[in-house]
Amino acid sequence: MTWAEVTARKLWVRLGSPEPPVDVGAVCRTLGVEIWVVSCGSALFDAVYTPRTRDGRRLVTVNGALSRERQRFSVAHELGHALLAGHAAKTAGATWNLERSPLRETEANRFAAELLMPKLLLVREPRRLVPPVKELAARYLVSREAMRIRLTQLGLMPLCADEGAGAQEETGGLEDAG
Ligand SMILES: [Zn+2]
Repeated sequence: MTWAEVTARKLWVRLGSPEPPVDVGAVCRTLGVEIWVVSCGSALFDAVYTPRTRDGRRLVTVNGALSRERQRFSVAHELGHALLAGHAAKTAGATWNLERSPLRETEANRFAAELLMPKLLLVREPRRLVPPVKELAARYLVSREAMRIRLTQLGLMPLCADEGAGAQEETGGLEDAG
């Protein structure tokens, strides 16, 4: 496991190792981070983390125009920036993360994937009866694309009956604006 995944695993355990779908709102409350949903057009941004607002709050702003699944992944991704050392500026009033780097984005995605789709739960899914990606995505409340990537990461994808190429779906929430 990567450091980002270990951090997410510890948080999931601290939450009581909840069954899916992980309650992202509860995670935020545990961490003292507020969620602010704004609707401003899906192309503009996914979510952004503010380490400290001018009145001292920790805030994740998420685009309400996104699907629920993408909002969840985006918030979890921003929580990765909040928790992983070196990801977020500490200055009061700073809104944007430190300069985006592919490494930090990958780490935040790994964090979000482990938080929302914990390895300990996915490997526990019955081997011969692993539900299709579509069902797993619905149970964990993530996009199918995010689940497909996660299962591939964990080496579980071949065990999982996919729903085929004809499926129309939302994008995965893995490319964020934060
Ligand atoms: Zn990011």
